[in-house]
Amino acid sequence: MRNPFDAPGQWYKANLHTHTTASDGSATVQERIEQYRARGYSALAITDHDVVSDAAGLSTESFLVIDGTELSIKPFGDDRFMDLLCINVSSDHALPEDTDMNRVIAQMKAQGAECFIAHPFWSGNTIRELAPLEGYAGIEVFNSGCEVIGKGYSSVHWDELLNAGIRTCAIAVDDVHNYDGQFEQFRGWTMLKMPELSLPAVVEALRTGCYYSSCGPEILDFRITGGVTSLRCRAAREIHLVTDYVWGASFYADAADLLTELHALRGVEVSFQHADDGYLLSEVQADLGQECKHVRAEIVDAEGKRAWSNPLFFRE
Ligand SMILES: [Zn+2]
Repeated sequence: MRNPFDAPGQWYKANLHTHTTASDGSATVQERIEQYRARGYSALAITDHDVVSDAAGLSTESFLVIDGTELSIKPFGDDRFMDLLCINVSSDHALPEDTDMNRVIAQMKAQGAECFIAHPFWSGNTIRELAPLEGYAGIEVFNSGCEVIGKGYSSVHWDELLNAGIRTCAIAVDDVHNYDGQFEQFRGWTMLKMPELSLPAVVEALRTGCYYSSCGPEILDFRITGGVTSLRCRAAREIHLVTDYVWGASFYADAADLLTELHALRGVEVSFQHADDGYLLSEVQADLGQECKHVRAEIVDAEGKRAWSNPLFFRE
């Protein structure tokens, strides 16, 4: 895995889960491209249900369109399913009809795709069902479409996987269909750190976890240096350092205050420093517990919107 805050290049905003009229979306591929380009995105994966749209030819120098698909697989012998989001899929290949998740992931990866477990909370997927999966790049920690029934956030599923020692990353996505207006669009995105805007760079960033995910907040830096966990972000109301099991640390701004910088040192007391330039408001040192294996950052801004770093590991 690669820490995006150590990687060279620049940030590119991407929506990796998009439906069009090729399946059950309300807009054409070209309309989707225009919608996301107008909102400042650099990359869009078209992921219609069980079909590949063959849209990559619509890319320009400043906007990358990626062919993908969302496979609905029924691996449990009943009507329940697991959805697999596949990014970088060629329409030249037949999509697998297998019901074994690991075989499907392996087949898609062999075609060059990176796979994500879509909306595990919404699908009702349990840790027992998720833990045996292999070869996928991550899960969706946020899916705006699933907010229609209040099940957009899958961070507990993510933490269960990490607690089990499974090094999993997570993306935030729109899963836009648009039949209910705009509520599911421009709500969750993935910030990819890449040397250039290209399909190989996107695939590499997804494969190595070289990104963070957001519904609003911007993360500026997140790293472990000599046991000290440091985080810098745009003004935030809450900063959570989420680790394995019962360890970790949370910081809440005063009602009129916002946090933007934090340093967490295992074994050291918490301290705060505040500046008042509206950008670097605080600095924190916290005891994360000596037994922590990993830490991920979760940030909440003044409007209640969240951002998620990928996990860092204390012992590589
Ligand atoms: Zn979908």
